[in-house]
Amino acid sequence: MDADTIFAVASGAGQAAIAVMRLSGPAAGVVLHGLCGDVPAARRASLRRLRDRDGTMLDQAMVVWLPGPGSYTGEDAAELFLHGGRAVLHGVADALVALGARPAEPGEFTRRAFLNGRMDLTEAEAVHDLIAAETSAQRQQALRQLEGALGAIYRGWADRLRLLLAQQEALIDFPDEDLPPEVEAQVMQELATLQGEIAAHLDDGRRGELLREGLVFAIAGQPNVGKSSLLNALAEREVAIVSPLPGTTRDALEARVVLGGVPVTLVDTAGLREATDAIEAEGVRRARARAAEADLVISVVAPAPGSPAACGRGLGESGHPTTAPTLLVANKQDLGGSPPPGAIGVSALTGAGLDVLRTRLAEAARSLTDSAGSPPLTQARHRAALQEAAARLAGAQTADLPELRAEDLRLTLRAIGRITGSVGVEDILDTLFARFCIGK
Ligand code: GDP
Repeated sequence: MDADTIFAVASGAGQAAIAVMRLSGPAAGVVLHGLCGDVPAARRASLRRLRDRDGTMLDQAMVVWLPGPGSYTGEDAAELFLHGGRAVLHGVADALVALGARPAEPGEFTRRAFLNGRMDLTEAEAVHDLIAAETSAQRQQALRQLEGALGAIYRGWADRLRLLLAQQEALIDFPDEDLPPEVEAQVMQELATLQGEIAAHLDDGRRGELLREGLVFAIAGQPNVGKSSLLNALAEREVAIVSPLPGTTRDALEARVVLGGVPVTLVDTAGLREATDAIEAEGVRRARARAAEADLVISVVAPAPGSPAACGRGLGESGHPTTAPTLLVANKQDLGGSPPPGAIGVSALTGAGLDVLRTRLAEAARSLTDSAGSPPLTQARHRAALQEAAARLAGAQTADLPELRAEDLRLTLRAIGRITGSVGVEDILDTLFARFCIGK
């Protein structure tokens, strides 16, 4: 338990009708008594006059006393629902300091919740993700992790590893006793099963991480096919400069949209063509780099000027450097002609076909991020630990000596334990919680 009693405004910045002040730590009850004159009944909303030490009234507020260990942090805690004006917040903060509390560091409430065993690290990370969630699919993923779905998988593996380790140690300690001969075969079998499960979890196309970070869709194609116009139409605002002169989009222009509940950054790449000057060459280079890292390429073609029926080459055919799936879009359908086979016909000018395009993009966004049932890996930190675990498990299967196999099992267990925070994570806590906002 931390000795300090901490406080912070947990609601957003700026003037608001109500601001929530959080208080947690061993002296929370004493501090609350000092502020309201008594400690109200536990877990009940009570109206109180808050006063500083001189008896000056600071606010009339709703107060909730949340005694530990059943609170968010596991400590004695309180929440004050104050009027959200600056003078009220400053007055109450000064009074809390005078009563012996101190302002909280970023993420300190959640850090205490973790240290007091109220949540594991994957759940603490989910609190951060839920606060950062911009779309419904991100919210669902964060909530599932907050409810412990991911931690349960890792704890399940850790439990099985502990059992394996115990069996392996028995094989070392009692080599000549009457252990059933099939024990070693069972250990090897279970090792292979576990390794298969971890490999399947790792080999998920980064779906959970992509949903957490958002996708990148590159709009690519020859100059003047209408890439900028399409970006503006999909973003429903002016993001890109549209001009009849080829080469006007010099750099990659971006717009963030939500497609199928997934955040997607649409990138309008500068026309991929032979550059005529240095600035344009840089634009083309950046466009290629963006297209190369995109999760999907929207390859735009349009009828060549003067021959409305014919469509120019798609980017896929011009050998752009990406392995991402490609959606072929035939723009300027208002000029007549018909889209090439497999292409979605649209007109950025009239809006025709854009609904179909939006639906297809939303489907693509969902299928790139949908982890079909099982809770997905969501963080590079987890991936690194699991890769280490998988490597140690492989080592355990080829170890020459029983002692070496036991050591590999111990290291596997340690790698997995670091994900939920059950072992040796002191060194990462500062980095992990520093990303949080104050009051969380
Ligand atoms: P980009 O170079 O591929 O980004 O192309 P732009 O978006 O700058 O458009 C090039 C030209 O084509 C502009 O004059 C646009 O007004 C025009 N344009 C774009 N989309 C359409 C469309 O659907 N129909 C017609 N008729 N013209 C379009």
